[in-house]
Amino acid sequence: MKNERKHELFEQFPQLKAIANKETVLWENTNWMKKAKTSLFTMEEVAEAEETLQRFSSYLKVAFPELVASNGLIESTILEIPAMKRALENEYGLFIPGQLLLKSDHALPISGSIKARGGIYEVLKHAERLALASGKLKKVDDYARLASAEFQSFFQQYTIAVGSTGNLGLSIGIIGKKLGFNVVVHMSSDAKEWKKALLREKGATVVEYEADYSVAVEQGRQEAELDPMCHFIDDENSKDLFAGYTVAAMRLKGQLDKTNVSVDGTHPLFVYLPCGVGGGPGGVAYGLREIFGEHVHIFFAEPVASPCMTLGLMTGLHDAICVEDIELDNKTEADGLAVGRASKFVGKVMETYISGCYTVTDEELFTSLGLAMDSEELFLEPSAHAGMFGAIRLLQKGEHYIAQHKLAKHMSQATHLVWATGGSMVPDSMRATYLAKSRDFV
Ligand SMILES: *Cc1c(COP(=O)(O)O)cnc(C)c1O
Repeated sequence: MKNERKHELFEQFPQLKAIANKETVLWENTNWMKKAKTSLFTMEEVAEAEETLQRFSSYLKVAFPELVASNGLIESTILEIPAMKRALENEYGLFIPGQLLLKSDHALPISGSIKARGGIYEVLKHAERLALASGKLKKVDDYARLASAEFQSFFQQYTIAVGSTGNLGLSIGIIGKKLGFNVVVHMSSDAKEWKKALLREKGATVVEYEADYSVAVEQGRQEAELDPMCHFIDDENSKDLFAGYTVAAMRLKGQLDKTNVSVDGTHPLFVYLPCGVGGGPGGVAYGLREIFGEHVHIFFAEPVASPCMTLGLMTGLHDAICVEDIELDNKTEADGLAVGRASKFVGKVMETYISGCYTVTDEELFTSLGLAMDSEELFLEPSAHAGMFGAIRLLQKGEHYIAQHKLAKHMSQATHLVWATGGSMVPDSMRATYLAKSRDFV
């Protein structure tokens, strides 16, 4: 980006200065609309994704016995975390009005992160397309058949490729190999060793890069284009991936109803979602706003070194701006969020949907990691802790938002939902390393 252009942007968006200085910020989306709208995605596509997942439930039960209990659905629970609420209040000297809930996607079956939604869905969808086209499968069949040797060798002719900072690759690798596909995962330099090792153990090919996520994705895309039998899972543009995440919203509605959590004009729901390239949080946010309308307030959380979605939405430039343009280095311990350039597709969809974005420091992530372990015996990977700061940022810096939306008198009846995006697959030795690091801060 040219210097003049940069200068213009800093004039036009005064908050950019704080962002470039790695200060924590809360950015409020001025394009937010009561009735959000987009021409890029529809609720029919959400319903279709849910139906596809239902068709696959019998296969998933056979392939992953841990899914028998949920009848083949990949879903996580919601739980109240009152001790963590108190711990955060003590640590940051604030009172958080309302209740603090956790959406346990860190414990999602199969791959232990939010990517078990979108990533697995896109692989299933691709497998279904191939199987239907070959005449070997009909939509009315019992999909448990897909676990047979016949289908394994059928899928072996095909390759699935993906670029990832870790968790997406893990999800695609596990489900792809289970079905019989060849899987090639292009991993950025941020990807943790244990994730690469686990993937190799499952039989996937791991290609490592010394560069960041955008480079890994681009290389993967180019290599995949040369092979007509290869399907590239495009984290930056895929609608299937996005659709897989949206389904979470309908499921959450059911869970909130069951636990008598109201969401209406006097009971606001705040949802805090850690954001990398945007697909995971974007899909969830789309679904939630379609269901709960103006009563759900959604904030994306990003590391101070990687606020790509904040930059893209604030400037309206989407993927035409990256964190390096404002001299940020995209270096963070939150490996799942180490993305320098946001998805244009997701950014465009989100324009009228999300309430805003906020940033967190790595220090805060580790502080939260220690607090969660001490207060709730809860382990989440560093990325997932970005969601824990939603209520705090809102109280520290969201006065204008709360006034604008006339929320002050309803805050004591608010629900703050932290979307825990990953952690249950992290090996013990790595957990110990993270916890030791957290002790430097708590
Ligand atoms: C991928 C990931 C996210 C963010 O999802 P995006 O689709 O990249 O925005 C958040 N947390 C964790 C742990 C992740 O792996």
